[in-house]
Amino acid sequence: MHTIGIAAILHLRSDKVAGGYIGMDFTFDEEFEVGPWGNSALMSRHFSSADFPVVPTGGELSRVGKLHSLIQSGEDGYLTVCNNSKRSLKNCGSCEKCQRTMLAYRSLGIEPADGLFEHALELEAVRKLKISKLTQWVFYVRMAARWANKEDPYYEIVRNMVATAKEEGFTVHHEKMLSENAEATGFSSGGWKKKPPSGGRSIVGRVLRKFGMG
Ligand SMILES: [Zn+2]
Repeated sequence: MHTIGIAAILHLRSDKVAGGYIGMDFTFDEEFEVGPWGNSALMSRHFSSADFPVVPTGGELSRVGKLHSLIQSGEDGYLTVCNNSKRSLKNCGSCEKCQRTMLAYRSLGIEPADGLFEHALELEAVRKLKISKLTQWVFYVRMAARWANKEDPYYEIVRNMVATAKEEGFTVHHEKMLSENAEATGFSSGGWKKKPPSGGRSIVGRVLRKFGMG
């Protein structure tokens, strides 16, 4: 729930600025796919007060789209995506999130600036990545869908990751997450109580077909 922390910091500046923005993790339609999530368009607005609006932004662009936008504006050099507490530079280049971001650069056919990541992308390291949850999977499926060079060996790995996760990985995790959510919040819907069937009406099947990967 890092959104609460960001909102708190924004409110600390409420004597200087009229309102604050919180960048969305997902697009609006992706939010329907991932279900309840701490940083959502619905949640973030509720951190507003009567005279200080907190506004979610960026819901029109996927994560790769956001990166592309930053690159085009020349601001990607400020990127800090790493969640490795042992990093020495701002991006370790080894954790899943760093590698996912470097893969996003690669999908766009663009090299990150020297020094932005401590380690460069390596085929062997990427082969060991595994998508373990739906919130990751959504990012990878978008990335694969807009990969510029389909001959790229990294594209093949990402495409396989997406397919493997669909078959055996995150569905189990997602089911567990939803049942925990339902237990903790009492919230559940007809659709969520059921395990998505393979293909057919499932969210995964629909998303894969939408991006030509079903
Ligand atoms: Zn990292």
